[in-house]
Amino acid sequence: MNRSRAILVTIITGLLAVAAPILFALHIADQQGKNIEKNRVLSFAREALSRSDRAADQIYEGIDRLSSAPDPCSPSQLFLMRDIDLSSSQIQAIGWVSNNILKCSSLGASGTMQIDLGDPDVVTTTGSRLRTNVTFPFAKDSAFTVVERNGYAAIIHKDLPIDVVTESSDISIATVTPENRKVRSLRGHINVEWMSRLGELQEVTFVEQQYVVAVVRSKRYATAVIAALPIHYLRAQTREAALILVPTGLAAGAVLIWAILYVVRLQMALPTLLKVALRRKELFLVYQPIVDLRSGRWIGAEALVRWRRPSGELVRPDLFIQVAEDTGYIQKVTEQVIEIAARDASNIFRKFPYFHIGINLAAADLQSHHTIELLEDLMRETSASDGNILIEATERGFMNTTIAQEIMRKIRAKGIRIAIDDFGTGYSSLSYLESFELDYLKIDKSFVDKIGTEAATSQVVPHIIEMAKDLQLEMIAEGVETEAQARYLRDSGVQFAQGWLFSKPLPYSELQSKLRDLDDSLSGSHPARSSPVAPGQAL
Ligand code: C2E
Ligand code: CA
Ligand code: CA
Repeated sequence: MNRSRAILVTIITGLLAVAAPILFALHIADQQGKNIEKNRVLSFAREALSRSDRAADQIYEGIDRLSSAPDPCSPSQLFLMRDIDLSSSQIQAIGWVSNNILKCSSLGASGTMQIDLGDPDVVTTTGSRLRTNVTFPFAKDSAFTVVERNGYAAIIHKDLPIDVVTESSDISIATVTPENRKVRSLRGHINVEWMSRLGELQEVTFVEQQYVVAVVRSKRYATAVIAALPIHYLRAQTREAALILVPTGLAAGAVLIWAILYVVRLQMALPTLLKVALRRKELFLVYQPIVDLRSGRWIGAEALVRWRRPSGELVRPDLFIQVAEDTGYIQKVTEQVIEIAARDASNIFRKFPYFHIGINLAAADLQSHHTIELLEDLMRETSASDGNILIEATERGFMNTTIAQEIMRKIRAKGIRIAIDDFGTGYSSLSYLESFELDYLKIDKSFVDKIGTEAATSQVVPHIIEMAKDLQLEMIAEGVETEAQARYLRDSGVQFAQGWLFSKPLPYSELQSKLRDLDDSLSGSHPARSSPVAPGQAL
């Protein structure tokens, strides 16, 4: 990526990093506000419905008590009516109706009443006859609802169910008969069409036409309640939530931008820093042993590059190897790695002739004849003979086949062994493998990790092992961390392994003294590969 593109990408990513958390915060604030308001309006509606249900309970209970008498307006019935009236918090009066005329009631004796109630507005499915807007001569300013069943009628205040106590004066509320969608009592503005949103449900909440609306239906009676709050309450809620969430979003965005800038700056600075590091020789090597899974013997070690900055900071190879490949410094890195290995291991093979040192080569190294010269130097300086030097090349190294093939053939002709590294992570195809002369296949850590797990890719491990056997390659399993993995690999016929179970990568001095100790414990005899397991080395 060139510089200006990197900057552009950084700016766009940065803007997104700021915008995304804020938009997300606003969205959450809006959702939260909606939920709060929906719950508020729903609780109003439930409260009104429960008042209405309570009134209906008392009405039908009262009517039931009156129903069995032969003379509906007898003195004992009138006494009972008064008793029902007084004991009910909801019923204003209860009486007897015949032909729409209120003949007698808890309000007075028969004959003094004779009030014409008019035809009912609705007859419900349960047989109740409802009059929803009745006025009486004795209370001209109030409107009442009259519920009639079996000839008896209860009179309640029209607005009783909707007298919900509320701190917001502009809540609208209505009781509705679901059958005909007739509004029985109303306060504020309600659209009866909102009933249709209920469908088969018991209750719904939604936002429509500048209102947050709740519709609830009675489980026991032919009554529904609609409650609505103007949307400006919602806006206030959203603003309040946004006031908390947006600064949080901004802070998150700022942290994200800072992190992006840090990584980009590091990425852009790395090539320059690496160039300086190569000049100042800041690279060094550690060596990770490779063990024989049967005997436990250390048969070799892979050289792994490390970079210590003058500040003491260690830069991981995963970070800088890629940069070195992208910027063309990788061959310089390889050159220094080989130089360091030559210095470190100058006489190692005189004392440990069965041992090998593994060097990682990048794709570019396999396109250059210079690599052969470097490896010749390494062999000379370490007094290496056949099999003492191993090179590890990833599948990408095999891509430009003609030159790579020629270089590998020349390398191999010098007695250097070749391993295919990170096998299975690239474009593994059998055909290219067959066209190269190889010695080892390294099973990548990602597959070793799957051993013993249910993961589908765990099937890949046996497949890779079979492939290696078909190609007559020896196998080195990478990243072995558990006994179970080691056992599985050994039982499957994998010969060698490398991983923290056996040893972490070591400084050369430690590798050397460890090798000496192990050698001494074998009573100084020069061990052959089939030697018995050294103490402390057994799996
Ligand atoms: P790689 O070639 O696959 O090397 C194996 C990596 O696995 C090493 O990481 C090693 O330290 C790590 N490892 C070994 N055993 C275990 C284990 O049991 N558990 C875990 N979690 N990790 C384990 P490292 O040293 O960080 O190297 C990373 C990669 O950098 C290497 O992967 C290789 O691709 C590259 N690299 C390292 N040194 C060189 C070098 O000199 N030249 C080139 N071209 N690439 C190198
Ligand atoms: Ca490797
Ligand atoms: Ca690997």
